[in-house]
Amino acid sequence: MEQINYTKCLIIGGGPAGFTSAIYASRANLQPILYEGIQPGGQLTTTTEVENFPGYPDGVSGPQLMEDLRAQARKYGADIRNGEVTGVSFDRRPFTVTIDGTTDITAETVIIATGATARYLGLPDEQKYMGLGVSACATCDGFFYRKKTVAVVGGGDTACEEALYLSTLASKVYLIVRKDHLRASKVMQSRVLDRENITVLFNTNTTGLFGEEFVEGAHLVEFLGTDRERHFDISIDGFFLAIGHKPNTDVFKPYITLDDAGFIVLQGNTQSTNIEGVFAAGDVADPRYRQAVSAAGTGCRAAIDAERYLLEH
Ligand code: NDP
Repeated sequence: MEQINYTKCLIIGGGPAGFTSAIYASRANLQPILYEGIQPGGQLTTTTEVENFPGYPDGVSGPQLMEDLRAQARKYGADIRNGEVTGVSFDRRPFTVTIDGTTDITAETVIIATGATARYLGLPDEQKYMGLGVSACATCDGFFYRKKTVAVVGGGDTACEEALYLSTLASKVYLIVRKDHLRASKVMQSRVLDRENITVLFNTNTTGLFGEEFVEGAHLVEFLGTDRERHFDISIDGFFLAIGHKPNTDVFKPYITLDDAGFIVLQGNTQSTNIEGVFAAGDVADPRYRQAVSAAGTGCRAAIDAERYLLEH
């Protein structure tokens, strides 16, 4: 069957935001096309168990949750495809979006739901223990570390927030900070420094992780490159990265207004971007909450915004 490359609604991104947009848009008869990128299912596929997505009282694995959302979108007719957006032209409507440098899709509206990518240190051990003690989301995975010892890397608000959250579950939390100070807001700093079971390791970098199957500890170095350089190990069960997220917005930069960190700026209390007819949903426009359920919520809003836009134009 010949592939149709025109749609009333093109959804870019196959995470909870994109699939929720697809469910709403297909039920509104917009016959959406959705492109999943290089990581189909998005960040959730790197999580093992999801226990905070409403409707799953017994929890659900990240990949299963994404499979359920994908099946629900497909059931109402969403055309789900694989491919990466390599170029966009938002100068005039209908918009043109290029996939894999070869296929042009023409779309009356576009919903950008490309998510954000957690930053990692770049250690080979992070990959080795991914899902086996390494995580970039304390809210998602903290529950598995009740009464255990964990480390959080980073010195910003996210790191402090994650350390504080984990300190209510774990018996001991190390906060590994590469500088001699925290970058986080003063109030977060004092909360962390006042919390009895959080130990802040300033001037410290991680060089590796160790453990039989799961993470059992981290190799650290203090005062790297100075005459006070000291190598030591800590015993931990979990290693949480909180060194920022990079929103996946590079390809949209020429057209879409972004904030200093690269997140899409929304207009008023809507999911509209600065370009009429182009909407955004999920982590790509959310430096603050970054939860699967909040991404799904904004995916719903973006589809409703797109539907109303089409009715008005
Ligand atoms: P930030 O960019 O603010 O902080 C990143 C932290 O990670 C910094 O301490 C940085 O160190 C450290 N870091 C970066 N790379 C490395 C590395 N390779 N090795 C070790 N450490 C590293 O990111 P956040 O996610 O914390 O915050 C993003 C934005 O969201 C901020 O504006 C923040 O204020 C906001 N936010 C607000 C919250 C709230 O108001 N409740 C909650 C969470 C976030 P260094 O300082 O040395 O550069």
